[in-house]
Amino acid sequence: MPRDNSINEIQSFAAGQWVPPGEGARSVASAITGEPICVAGNDALDTVAMHSWAREKGGPALREMTFHDRARMIKALALYLRDHRQLLYDLSFDTGATQKDHLIDVDGGIGTMLVFASKGRREMPDGHVYLDGATEQLSRSGDFMGQHIAVPLQGVAVQINAFNFPVWGMLEKLAPALLAGVPSIVKPATATCYVTEACVRLMLQSGLLPDGALQLITGGTGDLLDHLDCQDVVCFTGSSETAMKLRSNRRLMENSTRFMAEQDSLNASVLGNDAAPGTPEFDLFVREVHREMTVKAGQKCTAIRRIMVPDAHVDAVLHVVSEKLAATTVGDPRLETTGMGALVSDAQRRDVLAKTERIAQDAERVFGDPDTVTVQGENAANGSFLQPMLFCAPDPDSAQHLHDTEAFGPVATVMGYRDVPHAIRLLNRGKGSLVASVFTNCTDTAREITLGSAAFHGRLYFNNRTSQAEATGHGAPLPHMVHGGPGRAGGGEELGGIRGVLHYMQRTAVQGSPDILSSITKQWCPGAATRTDAAHPFTKPFGDLSIGDTLHAGPRTVTLDDIETFAHFTGDRFYAHMDETAAAANPFFPGRVAHGYLLLSFAAGMFVEPDPGPVLANTGLDSLRFMAPVSPGDTISVQLTAKAKTPRNEEYGEVRWHVRLTNQEAATVAEYELLTMNAL
Ligand code: NDP
Repeated sequence: MPRDNSINEIQSFAAGQWVPPGEGARSVASAITGEPICVAGNDALDTVAMHSWAREKGGPALREMTFHDRARMIKALALYLRDHRQLLYDLSFDTGATQKDHLIDVDGGIGTMLVFASKGRREMPDGHVYLDGATEQLSRSGDFMGQHIAVPLQGVAVQINAFNFPVWGMLEKLAPALLAGVPSIVKPATATCYVTEACVRLMLQSGLLPDGALQLITGGTGDLLDHLDCQDVVCFTGSSETAMKLRSNRRLMENSTRFMAEQDSLNASVLGNDAAPGTPEFDLFVREVHREMTVKAGQKCTAIRRIMVPDAHVDAVLHVVSEKLAATTVGDPRLETTGMGALVSDAQRRDVLAKTERIAQDAERVFGDPDTVTVQGENAANGSFLQPMLFCAPDPDSAQHLHDTEAFGPVATVMGYRDVPHAIRLLNRGKGSLVASVFTNCTDTAREITLGSAAFHGRLYFNNRTSQAEATGHGAPLPHMVHGGPGRAGGGEELGGIRGVLHYMQRTAVQGSPDILSSITKQWCPGAATRTDAAHPFTKPFGDLSIGDTLHAGPRTVTLDDIETFAHFTGDRFYAHMDETAAAANPFFPGRVAHGYLLLSFAAGMFVEPDPGPVLANTGLDSLRFMAPVSPGDTISVQLTAKAKTPRNEEYGEVRWHVRLTNQEAATVAEYELLTMNAL
């Protein structure tokens, strides 16, 4: 269990030791009361030892495991955190967050881990090498092949996070790094590091992680970046100024150390020109704008900052959004009646106010007062609360600050647009964002905005009456979809399923003979050695089946009668099979030919072992290609080879078979991959 003394001294976890605050420690105040609640940071942290501990202990231990081992570990960690999440909720109130906000941060982080755990098991092999794309034939005979692979980097992932999501911000980077097989040094923002520290303690105390897989720096990173090299990665979320400072570190540049940044972003939302007041899209739009302004008190990297509305509906939008903001209670986030909590600190509140002054040079404030805020809660008088503020820009085309200034709080600006091209121009004035949303029931508008604006946004989110019940929200980065954006948003990319894992891996093009490639990838590559023995491969349990085990079956002659019977039995009387003259006129066929599906059925008829055995089910067929027509009188044969094996659970695993159908001249007629579930 976590430490039972107070949260006053927030520690780092460095090279296997908990290190208390020391010289250079900073004090952190509660967002609710303004009172100091803890200190964190120690300038004497041994960053060289941390780097070595990750690389010499954590990396090798993680790389020893398979992708599936690590996916199981991530799942167990997520479930452990879920069992202990109340502790994280309790601590998070002092960051200014409400219980609803905790669900995004804590449960969102745990959910992200679970998705990576599941994708790791389903989409990655139970091995050490990830295959990126198909095998490439690089020579005429197929004796020289190519395959892109990805292997874990042999360094450490330094993950520097922003203050706004002390749990999700860490877990959304940690899960893909762990799945890749790379150890992490996590550095949360000092303002909320006490929540991250508790979460790291839980993960370490779970006993699920190998030594060296996870370390924590609370406070400054010292000279850590000066020790990184080409095998390390820096993943940063925060302000553009800090990103610029860190990415221009000489050592990082000299070593081409990967640097991924997710930084300021002027995300926008567009009300479609079809979405007048009274339509479901108008109501959805208003709800989303209000939610994005108030959740986490607007301190979300994806929050809506610029609101684009058809000129005719600007007044209506200002009116209803203002009404909803007026009904939002600001106050102590522990109170159930509070709709919006506090900003993380007084410094953040002052920063937001300074930014709103810049925005006010382009826009008029129509809701909210920077000087007064009514706060509910007895002890909240000195907290960093702010009333939400809605602005309206009369001339968004000539405005400058509006499109350049991210006020990282409950602040947004409405601007009118004339037509869709105008909306696109305004959208793109953000110079690169994490997400833009569009509320429209018009498919043409959606397409026009996508073509005009997708290049400026990491994610485009469309919502309307059809998707409303299931849509996940403008502001929610999903582990399945990429999160990151071009330009101002940092030019980085995270999440996106296995794409997010590959940021921690090296893609390498491997070229060589089929046997070499099969040995490296642990997947049978066409042209590699096969093995045929007395036992039919379908009679071998999953564990006994070897990659390359092969069955040759056939021949079987295809007759006109077979084609007729198949056509009448299935109802597929397509002319190429039934009408000699019409078929011969078709450039693909010499005359009537066998149905492709008939050939697949004959192939199964030749290779299937009919008796009950380890093959439990045929679950699919991939990459089917018909390569040459089969005429009546032709004779076909089949080769079935075990290509890859993926364990699924304690009882069965998936076998991917390579199937090649040939004719009497040994020409390939059809090729595909067959999937079966086989008992272990
Ligand atoms: P910062 O850029 O100040 O800090 C981000 C992280 O970088 C923190 O962990 C911080 O640690 C760390 N850091 C700062 N300086 C250094 C350094 N020299 N070496 C190593 N690490 C360093 O961002 P904040 O979290 O304070 O947020 C400030 C602003 O960033 C917001 O107001 C907002 O504008 C923007 N932001 C944008 C986000 C986005 O994705 N669009 C997300 C969050 C923030 P420490 O706290 O100890 O200084």
